Amino acid sequence: MSTISLCEPKYLELKNRLTQIQDLEVAISVLNWDQTTYMPTGGTFARGRQIATLRKFAHEKFTDPNIYQLLEELRAYEKSLPYYSTEASLIRVTRRDYERAVRVPSEFMAKLSQHQTVCYEAWVKAKSLKNFSLVQPYLEKTLELSQELASFFPYKHIADPLIDFVDEGMTVSILRPLFKELRQKLLPIAEVIASAPPIDDSCLYQHYPKEKQLKFGRSVIERIGFDFQRGRQDETPHPFTSSFSIGDVRMTTRVYENNFSEALFSSIHEVGHALYEQGISPELEGTPLAKGTCSSIHESQSRLWENIVGRSRGFWEYFYPQLQGIFLPQLSRVSISEFHQAINKVVKSPIRTDADEVTYNLHVMIRFNLELAMLEGKLSVKDLPEAWNESYKKDLGIVPANDSEGVMQDVHWYGEMIGGMFQGYALGNLIAAQIYEAIVKFDPEVTFGIERGNFTLLRQLLKQNIYQHGRKYTANELINQVTGKSLSIEPFISYIQDKYSNIYNLNFAIIA
Ligand code: ZN
Repeated sequence: MSTISLCEPKYLELKNRLTQIQDLEVAISVLNWDQTTYMPTGGTFARGRQIATLRKFAHEKFTDPNIYQLLEELRAYEKSLPYYSTEASLIRVTRRDYERAVRVPSEFMAKLSQHQTVCYEAWVKAKSLKNFSLVQPYLEKTLELSQELASFFPYKHIADPLIDFVDEGMTVSILRPLFKELRQKLLPIAEVIASAPPIDDSCLYQHYPKEKQLKFGRSVIERIGFDFQRGRQDETPHPFTSSFSIGDVRMTTRVYENNFSEALFSSIHEVGHALYEQGISPELEGTPLAKGTCSSIHESQSRLWENIVGRSRGFWEYFYPQLQGIFLPQLSRVSISEFHQAINKVVKSPIRTDADEVTYNLHVMIRFNLELAMLEGKLSVKDLPEAWNESYKKDLGIVPANDSEGVMQDVHWYGEMIGGMFQGYALGNLIAAQIYEAIVKFDPEVTFGIERGNFTLLRQLLKQNIYQHGRKYTANELINQVTGKSLSIEPFISYIQDKYSNIYNLNFAIIA
């Protein structure tokens, strides 16, 4: 007991230091949020400097040898505590973050971040001119820097450290066979749907006035459980959610007046991210544990609400009469079945962000495989557009009209790096289905609640099992804990088969 009590002041010292660093990180997030919502463009240059200054302070404070010293001194204390206790988790997660932060020389980070800004600007120009060759030399440099970044870590596959940054514990040896199996199951499903009579979704592309869309969207996210006393919603060109504290979670949306789906479903998506952040245990506030655990689990929460709940028939049993009342001229002659089919239409499109639930993962897996091939040195950046188009032809039966709609459509490679950028999106879908299946099995009342517009039970179960823990568990630990099984594609595939056999009146059991 004496060692433990001697250690407690050290633990508090570590926690206080981490809270100060966390405060700097949050200040960076506030500046970022402001930049993407309300800041006049004239502020861009100074804002870049302000963020860089704070980032440098935060990095210096975190990599300070005192932090290492404290982590070393707290080893015995950590071992004396239950593994998932807040104290042991804080020490464990901080040690992991610390080891990651000190492996990469700060000169390299400065070089990378400088290059990212230049490459991003080149991408904006190349994309608008539909000319990949303008960004090619910059992307070649990004590939080199991504390989160099990986080299600071021990690895089995060169992409492993880059994947581990965002999805700790996931590796190429886990993901490659998983995605291979997923692709093999999805391709024939997408094929059968493509040969079925197409769904008429023209009802979604009428004129929907912006103010009415925002008002309806707000009522939906409030009903789902977003707490407006502890958050807000603003507009931005590229929706995202950021959390400044458990009591201040900001989500954003964008509205297209000629496309009903965009604002509503992106709002439901973002509310999934936001509920996660609002649901973290107050005990973790101000520590590095007070955020969602990783990109794939975060995405699983947004996709669960957006697709499994928000595009379900039960959800619209409750909301469709209200929606029809608000948009009477647009929807008075559209039945709930027609509307439900329209919002679930499957189309082989060239653009990932427009993709439906069936083809979405195919888009993601194409990117994942190309990333691996580039990192392994098997595919050069020069040959990337051709490899991209070939993959699209093979898996989706289409060739993008130009490289802006093809290889240059996503910002990730051009604004960040190559490696670890996409797997979280596909994993999010798989994890969402696996978690939802387990939750409904645990309490079937969840689905009846949704039909009555009562989301309390689902939210509470997600909070208990996922939200409240913040970063205490890794993705794999959480999946095992919540579902009793390790990650698998089966729940997602059976969800897709059930849902789309109804919507398209098909029998996948026979073809699969
Ligand atoms: Zn998301």
